[in-house]
Amino acid sequence: MKYLAKHFVLSALICTFAFIMPRYADVILPLPLQGTFTYALPPDCEVVPQVGCRVIVPFGSRKFYTAIVMRLHDETPPYPTKLVSEVLDASPAVLPAQLSLWQWISDYYLCSMGDVFKAAIPAALKPKCETKKGARSKGQGAGGLSGQEAFSCPPALAPCPLSDVQQQAMEGIVSQWQTHDVCLLHGVTSSGKTEIYIHLMKKAIEEGKQVLFMLPEIVLTTQLTERLRRVFGNRMGVYHSKYSDKVRAELYQKMLSEEPYDIVVGVRSSIFLPFQRLGLLIIDEEHETSFKQQDPAPRYHARNVALVMARQAGAKALLGSATPCLESYHNALVGKYGLVTLKTRYAGLSLPDIEIVDVQEMRRKKLMGSGLFSPQLLAHIRKALEQRQQVILFQNRRGYAPVLECRECGWTPRCEKCDVSLTVHRGLRQMVCHYCGKAYDIPTVCPNCGGRDLSSKGYGTERIEEQLQAILPEARIARMDLDTTRSRQNYEQILHDFEGGNTDILIGTQMVTKGLDFDRVSLVGILSADSMLAQPDFRSYERAFQLMEQVAGRAGRKESVGHVVLQTRDASNAIVRQVLAHDYEGMYAEQAEERELFRYPPFCRVIFIYLKHRDEAVAESLATDFSVLLRQVFGERVLGPDTPPVSRIQRLHIRKLILKMELTAPMSAVRERLLALQSQILQMPGYHSAQVYYDVD
Ligand code: ADP
Ligand code: ZN
Ligand code: ZN
Repeated sequence: MKYLAKHFVLSALICTFAFIMPRYADVILPLPLQGTFTYALPPDCEVVPQVGCRVIVPFGSRKFYTAIVMRLHDETPPYPTKLVSEVLDASPAVLPAQLSLWQWISDYYLCSMGDVFKAAIPAALKPKCETKKGARSKGQGAGGLSGQEAFSCPPALAPCPLSDVQQQAMEGIVSQWQTHDVCLLHGVTSSGKTEIYIHLMKKAIEEGKQVLFMLPEIVLTTQLTERLRRVFGNRMGVYHSKYSDKVRAELYQKMLSEEPYDIVVGVRSSIFLPFQRLGLLIIDEEHETSFKQQDPAPRYHARNVALVMARQAGAKALLGSATPCLESYHNALVGKYGLVTLKTRYAGLSLPDIEIVDVQEMRRKKLMGSGLFSPQLLAHIRKALEQRQQVILFQNRRGYAPVLECRECGWTPRCEKCDVSLTVHRGLRQMVCHYCGKAYDIPTVCPNCGGRDLSSKGYGTERIEEQLQAILPEARIARMDLDTTRSRQNYEQILHDFEGGNTDILIGTQMVTKGLDFDRVSLVGILSADSMLAQPDFRSYERAFQLMEQVAGRAGRKESVGHVVLQTRDASNAIVRQVLAHDYEGMYAEQAEERELFRYPPFCRVIFIYLKHRDEAVAESLATDFSVLLRQVFGERVLGPDTPPVSRIQRLHIRKLILKMELTAPMSAVRERLLALQSQILQMPGYHSAQVYYDVD
């Protein structure tokens, strides 16, 4: 009897086990491959995986990868299947909401789920190796104390009270949220947007919601995190791409745990974190182009993905900027987003005065010397230094000089692998390709004609620093660009020195235009507006306006009205005029009209199709053949093929096609057609080794 009962229980258990244990798992691999792969689950599996769990699977002849389970089933496939080697999780490491976001990214940005998986999960959580044994030992994931928790946190304080206008703006946002999921806060520089965010975040976490506060990498400084930590203490985690993979893996796991952070302050990749009860999304500096991932795939725009994530979670979203991107402002004007404007700076500060200097005219009058410093700019710099004020000088080009040129034959050095001229970097004593990073020695003799008169043309930040130091030997000058900020520490040190008054003049690229908050900057110099305006991109005017308006906003924070000297050869340019008047609306109206006329975003969706091949003739004919195929399906919506301005990178020749789709066209259908045509063309003789990739918007 006893035996029978025991036996009964046992067989019931076996039955349940057999019932709940599916036989197959469809998984995605962290590889740029379309679709899922089916594996058999071992019948003696200790852990029953769920959708979203990590498993280790064999792939190829002897490789093992960490894969994510997408589907469990009992449908025996018509081909032999391999066995799952190991199940790493008993509960999902990727939540259902994340998987549907991944699917959206893969559809919209025309990449595979594997591409998304690769980008989304920190490496420590996806051990991949040649042998199963190694996989197991690495497969433990990350444990121990995280860098975040090691912080000793001061007790949280109540945030600064809002001013009346800020309070009104905040109430405006909350009331916009009653009818809109997304609200745009168009607030001039230094209007106190960050204070408003802090109040909204506080409110959200009091209501038991989670908050994602996303900002560009460059703005995520200790200055800012300390300001936030004073209010939120250890309820807040920071997700920075410069943190080690281990620290990022720990934060990921903490977000999966039963006690996740209430607030994550993070850079673009924080969209991949597992939020369990996201209630508020804030994106600061929403116009920033660095939210767009360029290479490798997924070439996603973190603002758009975050908005989709918020919508899926039923969360409210706030986009903030002094210079919103055209797309967002358009959405606000047509009523898709709510709009709240904040026109005044905090504490009654005025916006800076802008003075335009016509460099062409100064050159004619022989007043420019050999450099990029007009007499007006120099006079203002001297005055600022006398008054113990600080100066920011902005030049959108790093290095010493963009090109070296032989005075006798006009030869300029170019990269062997890419179709671009090399930038001279004196400090490195080298010429560097800004596309592939390859460095070359600086020649002393022209390899073309043997001439010895090689001179530098144009001005990068490094050359500007050298010239200014010669003009003002006493001044303490620092430079902030990619070359001087290779590590996070260097970056923070330069900011720290400037903040502490140890530096008088800070020269930099677009890095100096962002959210820095300094009290003693009375002067900002924009050394040349022209190179920004000359970019061959439909967004270049918008971008030039944003950069100039943002950098101007660094002038005159507390006591005095700031002054901006804007040097240009084209003083009548509309963008220059609009910066002069701080006329965002005027800029928007004019740019939007052009975009509508020539069919660019926000009035349609632009998909760039890049074709790459080692052989230029193959790249060329592939582009032509592909355009013919595409036209059969998409007709007039296809433009090109074109040879892009930089037509060879890393020895691969590039051709570009453009597809302009109506906003109403469903992206998953477009994607299917494109991928079908792509595999059709790649099967044609001679094309199998070509690369095709897409960049959306
Ligand atoms: P924005 O993000 O719009 O550029 P910030 O939020 O950084 O502006 O505010 C600019 C400066 O004004 C900061 O130094 C901030 O501390 C100060 N500030 C703004 N609002 C307040 C407030 N309500 N109380 C105290 N200081 C404020
Ligand atoms: Zn020469
Ligand atoms: Zn190169």
